[in-house]
Amino acid sequence: MFEERDLLKTLEKWQKILRLKDWDIKLELVTKEWRKTGDVKIDQADKTAIMLINNCNPKQTNIEALIIHELLHIKLWGMDQMIESLLKCVYGEDDEDPKYVFAYTQFMELLEVTTQDLTKGYVELGADDKSVSFGRIQGQADAEWGR
Ligand SMILES: [Zn+2]
Repeated sequence: MFEERDLLKTLEKWQKILRLKDWDIKLELVTKEWRKTGDVKIDQADKTAIMLINNCNPKQTNIEALIIHELLHIKLWGMDQMIESLLKCVYGEDDEDPKYVFAYTQFMELLEVTTQDLTKGYVELGADDKSVSFGRIQGQADAEWGR
Protein backbone atom coordinates (compact mmCIF):
# COMPACT_ATOMS: atom_id res chain seq x y z
CA MET A 1 0.00 0.00 0.00
CA PHE A 2 1.20 3.46 -0.89
CA GLU A 3 0.91 6.53 1.31
CA GLU A 4 -1.06 9.31 -0.38
CA ARG A 5 1.27 11.94 1.10
CA ASP A 6 4.34 10.32 -0.53
CA LEU A 7 2.56 10.01 -3.85
CA LEU A 8 1.59 13.69 -3.83
CA LYS A 9 5.23 14.64 -3.17
CA THR A 10 6.38 12.45 -6.05
CA LEU A 11 3.67 13.85 -8.33
CA GLU A 12 4.75 17.41 -7.54
CA LYS A 13 8.42 16.59 -8.12
CA TRP A 14 7.79 15.12 -11.58
CA GLN A 15 5.19 17.68 -12.62
CA LYS A 16 7.97 20.23 -12.20
CA ILE A 17 10.66 18.22 -14.02
CA LEU A 18 8.33 17.39 -16.92
CA ARG A 19 7.14 21.01 -17.24
CA LEU A 20 3.55 20.19 -16.36
CA LYS A 21 3.17 22.72 -13.54
CA ASP A 22 0.38 24.56 -15.36
CA TRP A 23 -1.82 21.44 -15.12
CA ASP A 24 -4.20 20.74 -12.24
CA ILE A 25 -3.75 17.07 -11.52
CA LYS A 26 -5.88 15.26 -8.97
CA LEU A 27 -4.64 11.98 -7.55
CA GLU A 28 -7.13 9.21 -6.82
CA LEU A 29 -6.13 5.99 -5.10
CA VAL A 30 -8.16 3.02 -6.30
CA THR A 31 -8.87 0.90 -3.23
CA LYS A 32 -10.65 -2.09 -4.77
CA GLU A 33 -9.66 -4.85 -7.21
CA TRP A 34 -8.80 -3.26 -10.56
CA ARG A 35 -7.44 -4.72 -13.80
CA LYS A 36 -5.13 -1.74 -14.31
CA THR A 37 -2.17 -0.45 -12.32
CA GLY A 38 -2.64 3.18 -13.27
CA ASP A 39 -4.57 5.40 -15.63
CA VAL A 40 -5.10 9.06 -16.34
CA LYS A 41 -8.18 10.95 -17.54
CA ILE A 42 -7.29 14.12 -19.41
CA ASP A 43 -9.05 17.36 -20.34
CA GLN A 44 -6.55 19.07 -22.62
CA ALA A 45 -8.54 22.29 -23.13
CA ASP A 46 -8.95 22.79 -19.37
CA LYS A 47 -5.48 21.44 -18.50
CA THR A 48 -6.94 19.21 -15.82
CA ALA A 49 -6.27 15.52 -15.24
CA ILE A 50 -7.21 12.82 -12.78
CA MET A 51 -4.52 10.24 -12.14
CA LEU A 52 -5.76 6.87 -10.91
CA ILE A 53 -3.30 4.70 -8.98
CA ASN A 54 -4.07 1.12 -8.01
CA ASN A 55 -3.55 0.90 -4.26
CA CYS A 56 -5.21 -2.51 -3.84
CA ASN A 57 -3.50 -5.01 -6.14
CA PRO A 58 -0.86 -3.05 -8.09
CA LYS A 59 1.33 -4.98 -10.55
CA GLN A 60 3.81 -2.13 -10.60
CA THR A 61 6.03 -1.97 -7.50
CA ASN A 62 7.96 1.15 -8.47
CA ILE A 63 5.31 3.78 -7.83
CA GLU A 64 7.56 6.66 -8.85
CA ALA A 65 7.95 5.07 -12.30
CA LEU A 66 4.18 4.67 -12.52
CA ILE A 67 3.60 8.35 -11.76
CA ILE A 68 6.20 9.38 -14.37
CA HIS A 69 4.52 7.07 -16.90
CA GLU A 70 1.08 8.57 -16.32
CA LEU A 71 2.48 12.12 -16.46
CA LEU A 72 4.13 11.33 -19.81
CA HIS A 73 0.69 10.32 -21.11
CA ILE A 74 -0.44 13.86 -20.27
CA LYS A 75 2.64 15.26 -22.00
CA LEU A 76 1.97 13.18 -25.13
CA TRP A 77 -1.82 13.64 -25.07
CA GLY A 78 -2.01 16.25 -27.85
CA MET A 79 -0.01 14.10 -30.25
CA ASP A 80 -1.87 10.97 -29.11
CA GLN A 81 -5.26 12.54 -29.91
CA MET A 82 -4.05 13.97 -33.21
CA ILE A 83 -2.86 10.56 -34.40
CA GLU A 84 -6.10 8.88 -33.25
CA SER A 85 -8.10 11.45 -35.26
CA LEU A 86 -5.84 10.94 -38.26
CA LEU A 87 -6.39 7.16 -38.11
CA LYS A 88 -10.16 7.74 -38.08
CA CYS A 89 -9.85 10.07 -41.10
CA VAL A 90 -7.82 7.55 -43.04
CA TYR A 91 -9.54 4.29 -42.03
CA GLY A 92 -13.00 5.40 -40.90
CA GLU A 93 -14.44 4.66 -37.47
CA ASP A 94 -15.66 1.12 -38.00
CA ASP A 95 -14.35 -0.91 -35.03
CA GLU A 96 -14.82 -4.08 -37.10
CA ASP A 97 -12.69 -2.90 -40.03
CA PRO A 98 -9.44 -4.90 -39.88
CA LYS A 99 -7.45 -2.03 -41.40
CA TYR A 100 -8.64 0.38 -38.73
CA VAL A 101 -8.19 -2.19 -35.95
CA PHE A 102 -4.66 -2.98 -37.15
CA ALA A 103 -3.60 0.67 -37.37
CA TYR A 104 -5.20 1.55 -34.03
CA THR A 105 -3.70 -1.44 -32.20
CA GLN A 106 -0.24 -0.77 -33.65
CA PHE A 107 -0.45 2.87 -32.62
CA MET A 108 -1.58 2.10 -29.07
CA GLU A 109 1.20 -0.47 -28.60
CA LEU A 110 3.80 1.93 -29.95
CA LEU A 111 2.48 4.69 -27.70
CA GLU A 112 2.80 2.43 -24.63
CA VAL A 113 6.29 1.22 -25.56
CA THR A 114 7.46 4.79 -26.20
CA THR A 115 5.93 6.07 -22.97
CA GLN A 116 7.53 3.24 -21.02
CA ASP A 117 10.95 3.73 -22.68
CA LEU A 118 10.89 7.42 -21.80
CA THR A 119 9.79 6.53 -18.26
CA LYS A 120 12.79 4.23 -17.84
CA GLY A 121 15.11 7.00 -18.98
CA TYR A 122 13.66 9.48 -16.49
CA VAL A 123 13.79 6.87 -13.72
CA GLU A 124 17.46 6.28 -14.49
CA LEU A 125 18.18 10.00 -14.43
CA GLY A 126 16.21 11.23 -11.48
CA ALA A 127 14.04 8.78 -9.57
CA ASP A 128 14.69 8.01 -5.90
CA ASP A 129 13.52 4.46 -6.62
CA LYS A 130 15.42 3.09 -9.63
CA SER A 131 14.14 -0.47 -9.27
CA VAL A 132 12.59 -2.25 -12.25
CA SER A 133 9.06 -3.62 -11.83
CA PHE A 134 8.55 -7.17 -13.05
CA GLY A 135 4.92 -7.31 -11.90
CA ARG A 136 3.46 -7.67 -15.37
CA ILE A 137 5.27 -10.98 -15.99
CA GLN A 138 6.06 -12.17 -12.44
CA GLY A 139 2.73 -14.01 -12.26
CA GLN A 140 3.63 -15.96 -15.40
CA ALA A 141 7.04 -16.89 -13.98
CA ASP A 142 5.45 -17.97 -10.67
CA ALA A 143 2.91 -20.10 -12.53
CA GLU A 144 5.64 -21.67 -14.68
CA TRP A 145 7.42 -23.28 -11.75
CA GLY A 146 4.54 -23.37 -9.31
CA ARG A 147 5.74 -20.90 -6.71
ZN1 LIG B 1 0.48 3.81 -20.37
